[in-house]
Amino acid sequence: MKLGVYIQVPFCQTKCTYCNFHTGVVARERYGPYVAAVEREIREHRKMYREAGIALPETFADAVVDTIYLGGGTPSLLDPEDLARLLDGVRETFPCALREVTLEADPETVDEEKARGWFQAGIDRISFGLQSFSDRELSAVGRMHRREDIERAVPLLRGAGIGNISFDLIAGLPHQTAESWGATVGEVLAMGPEHISIYMLEVDEGSRLGREILSKGGRYGANSVPGDDEVANFYDFARGALSAGGYHHYEISNWAIPGNESRHNLKYWRREGYLGFGAGAHSFSGTQRWANEHDAAKYTEALAAGRIPCEGLEALSAAQALDEELFLGLRQLDGIDIEKIERDYGVQLSSRLESLERNGLVERTGPVVRLAPARLSISNEVFVDLLR
Ligand code: SF4
Repeated sequence: MKLGVYIQVPFCQTKCTYCNFHTGVVARERYGPYVAAVEREIREHRKMYREAGIALPETFADAVVDTIYLGGGTPSLLDPEDLARLLDGVRETFPCALREVTLEADPETVDEEKARGWFQAGIDRISFGLQSFSDRELSAVGRMHRREDIERAVPLLRGAGIGNISFDLIAGLPHQTAESWGATVGEVLAMGPEHISIYMLEVDEGSRLGREILSKGGRYGANSVPGDDEVANFYDFARGALSAGGYHHYEISNWAIPGNESRHNLKYWRREGYLGFGAGAHSFSGTQRWANEHDAAKYTEALAAGRIPCEGLEALSAAQALDEELFLGLRQLDGIDIEKIERDYGVQLSSRLESLERNGLVERTGPVVRLAPARLSISNEVFVDLLR
C-alpha cells in the first residue's frame, strides 16, 4: 500500500484578509519547539495512536510512503534544516519510496540559499502561493509578495534544481477585472509551471474581509470583490486558456502538464490513506478520520508530554463513505464509475443523478458519470443536490 504524509506548519508572516485558517503570526522562537513536537509525533506516532484509540488497519503495517506534503500556513518560513529534520523523521520512521515531496512556499520567502537547502533536503516540488500578478490585488488582500518577488523567485527555484513547480491562483480577488485576470493567466502560461491550481475566492465570514463585506464596509477592497458570475467567467476563461496551453484539467481546481498531476493530492480525492502530522493536520486510514488539536501552542505542549492531542476521531459510516466517494470522486474530471459504487455500497444512485443529468450538470457515458465541463464553475450546486 502507498501512503501519503502531510505535515502542517501553521505559521504565517501576516494574516491575509480573506483567510480564516488556523494559522498564526508568532515569534520565530516558537518555530523550534513546534518542529521538535512534530518530529516527535512522526517518530512515535504508532505508540501515541494506540494510546489515543486510533486503530491503523493492517495494511498500514507495511505501507510505503511515496508522497510528502509540507503545507500551511507558510512552511517556507522554516529554516531548511528544520524542514530536513522533519523529512528525516519520515524517512527514518516509515519505509519510503518517495516520488513527490512538496513544499508550499510564498514568493517573498524564497532566496538562493533556501532554495538550495530545500532541494538538498529532498524537496522536489514547490507549490507556490502566487495568487495574482497584479500588485493592486495582492496588496488589497494583505499578501506579502509583489510581482517582482515572483519573477525573482522562480529562476532561483529552477536554478536550485527544483523541476516541478505549481502556481496557486485566486479568481475573484478584490479589484480583479477580466483584463487583470487575463494578464495574470497570460503571465502564468509564459512562465510555464508544471502545475496550476485555481481557486475561486471563498470569503470566510470570520475573516477580516468577510466581516467587512457583511458590514458593507470598504476596507480591504471589500466593495470591489467581483460578483459570482464574473468569477465564474474568470474560471471559464482560465479553463480555455490552460487547455490551449497544453495543460490537462484533471480536478475542478487543478491543471498539469500531463504526467505532473499532484500524486499527493490525488490520494485525497481517491480516498487513499494518508497520515497528517502537526497542529490541525488531518488523517485518513480508510475507515477512520481524525484531526490534531489546531492550536499550535496546545499541540506543542501535548506532544512535549508524549501525547497526540486528537480532536475528532470518527469511524465513517457506510453512508458517509458513499457521500465521500461521490463528492471527492466527482471533483476529478475523469468522473466516477457509478455501477462500481452501486455494487460496492449496495445502493441505487440513478434517482439521485436523474435531475442533475436532465439539467446538464453531469454527463453520463456508460457507467461513468462526470461533471459537465461547461458547468464546473457551479459544481457546488451538484454536490448540494447529490449529497442531500
Ligand atoms: S499565507 Fe495562506 S494560510 Fe497564511 S494567512 Fe495567507 S492565506 Fe492564510
